[in-house]
Amino acid sequence: MNITRPAYQDLHLLPLAGQWRAGNAGRQLEVTDPFTHKSLLSISQANREDLDEAYRKARETQAEWAAKAPAERAQVMLNVVKIFDERREEIIDWLIRESGSTRIKAQVEWGAARAITLESASLPNRVHGRILGSNIPGKESRVYRAPLGVIGVISPWNFPLHLTARSLAPALALGNAVVVKPASDTPVTGGLLLARIFEEAGLPAGVLSVVVGSGSEIGDAFVEHPVPAFISFTGSTEVGRNIGRIASGGKHLKHVALELGGNSPFVVLADADLEQAVSAAVVGKFLHQGQICMAINRIIVEQPVLEEFTRRFVERVKALPYGDPSKAETVVGPVINAKQLAGLRDKIATAKAEGATLLVGAEPQGNVMPPHVFGDVTADMEIAREEIFGPLVGIQSARDAEHALALANSSEYGLSSAVFTANLERGVQFAQRIHAGMTHVNDIPVNDEPNAPFGGEKNSGLGRFNGDWAIDEFTTDHWITLQHAPRPYPF
Ligand code: NAP
Ligand code: MG
Repeated sequence: MNITRPAYQDLHLLPLAGQWRAGNAGRQLEVTDPFTHKSLLSISQANREDLDEAYRKARETQAEWAAKAPAERAQVMLNVVKIFDERREEIIDWLIRESGSTRIKAQVEWGAARAITLESASLPNRVHGRILGSNIPGKESRVYRAPLGVIGVISPWNFPLHLTARSLAPALALGNAVVVKPASDTPVTGGLLLARIFEEAGLPAGVLSVVVGSGSEIGDAFVEHPVPAFISFTGSTEVGRNIGRIASGGKHLKHVALELGGNSPFVVLADADLEQAVSAAVVGKFLHQGQICMAINRIIVEQPVLEEFTRRFVERVKALPYGDPSKAETVVGPVINAKQLAGLRDKIATAKAEGATLLVGAEPQGNVMPPHVFGDVTADMEIAREEIFGPLVGIQSARDAEHALALANSSEYGLSSAVFTANLERGVQFAQRIHAGMTHVNDIPVNDEPNAPFGGEKNSGLGRFNGDWAIDEFTTDHWITLQHAPRPYPF
C-alpha cells in the first residue's frame, strides 16, 4: 500500500446524525474477507432509533446544504475526487478484501466511482429552471428545479463503492441530504469509507449518515420513514418489488428508483468478427466472477458460427486464472458468500439435470467457483431464464438473426444486452428491437459511463442514473406563478 495520508481509523463506527458512534441494535456484524474468511472488523449495528435520528438530522441539515453556492457543493465533489486519487490503493485494497474483487475489477470500480463523482461536480451548475408562457393576463409562470430533500440509498454488495456513489454523489451535489444503507456484506466500501471521504472533503456533518443493519430488519423502516422523499434502491428484483410496494402503498408516498436484476443476452450473428466476440464474451461474463447485473447471462450464437465460437470460447475460458483476488493475474476470484456459492451449485446441478452439456467446469475451492460453460442450452432451462450472478454461462443456438432476436427478448428482464455483427448499422437496427435499457453493438454488455443513461426496462427496474438523468431523478419541479395584475375571477 502506498498511502499519502494516514489510513482511516475507526471504520467500525457509523456516521449517524453528525457523530461517529456505535449503533444501538445490540448486535455485531462481522465483516469478513470472502476469500480468506478472515474477520476484517466488527460493527455494532444500527436499530430503528438510530435510523430515525439519522433521517431527522438529514432533514435538519439539508436546507443549509442546499443553500450553499453551486461552486461550494461542486468543490466538495472535486475534493472527493482528489481524495480518491490520493487514497487509490487504500480504496482498491478494501474492495479486494471486503467484496472479493479481483485487482482488475477493483480498479474498474474505483474508476467508475471516481468518474461519477467528477461528473457530479458539474451538476450544481447544470440545474435549470424555466420561464413559461401563460394564457392568463398578467401572470408570470416559472418552474423552479429543487432538490427532493432527503434521499435514502440502499446498495448491493457487488459494486458497493460505485453503486452507492452513483446515487450519493449526484444526490448530494444537487443539494439533497442522504442516508445510506449498505449491503451487510460490504458496509465499508458500500458506505463507511465513502462517509470518511466525504467528511474529509468538507461535507457538513449530518448531511450524510450510514446505517449498517440487516435489510430484513430495518429495510421496511428505512423505506416507510416519513422523512425520505425518494428511495434509490439497487439490488434484487424481489426486494425491489417490495420497496416499490411500500413506497407507493404506504402511509408516506415517495419516489423510487429501482435498479434490479438483469439477464443480458450476448448475441453473435454469423457475420461477426469471432475473435473480438470471443474476447468480449470472456470479459463480459467473467469480470467480477459474473456478479454484475449487466454481466452476460445468455450467449446466443447464430447456427453457422456456433461450433467455431464455442470451440474458441471454451479454449479461452479453460485458461482463465482463478483463485486469490489480490494476485494481479487472477480473473475469477471468490463469490461473495457461502449462500451465493450454494445457489450456484444448485444452478449447475439443475443445468445438468435439464440436459445442458458441461463444456468447462471444476469443483469450487472455498468460495471460489471456477468458470463453468454449458452447451446445448435452450430458452426454457433455468440457466437461461434466471439471473445467474456467478461465473456460469450457457450457450444457445439460433437458427437465424430473427430467431436470435426472439431468444434475446424472451426474458422478464431488460437491463443490458450486446450484439456482434460486421455491419454496425445492422447491429443498431437489431439493438433497437431488443427490449432493454442498454444495448452495445460489438462490445460487452457491461458498460457504465457517468454521462450516459443507465437503467433497465421490464423487471430490471425503473429510472435512470448518470448525467442529465440524475438531475431528473434527484430534483423535482416546483411550478410557481406570480400574478402581476389583479385577475378578474368569474364569480
Ligand atoms: P438484495 O438482497 O436485494 O440486497 C440489496 C440491498 O437491499 C442490500 O443492502 C440489502 O441489505 C438490502 N435489503 C435486503 N432486504 C431488504 C428489505 N426487505 N428492505 C430493504 N432493503 C433490503 O440483493 P443483493 O443480493 O445484495 O445483490 C444482488 C442482486 O442485485 C442481483 O439480483 C443483481 O442483479 C442486483 N443488482 C442490480 C444492479 C443494477 O444496477 N441494476 C446492480 C447490482 C446488483 P442486506 O445486505 O442487509 O440484506
Ligand atoms: Mg464479507
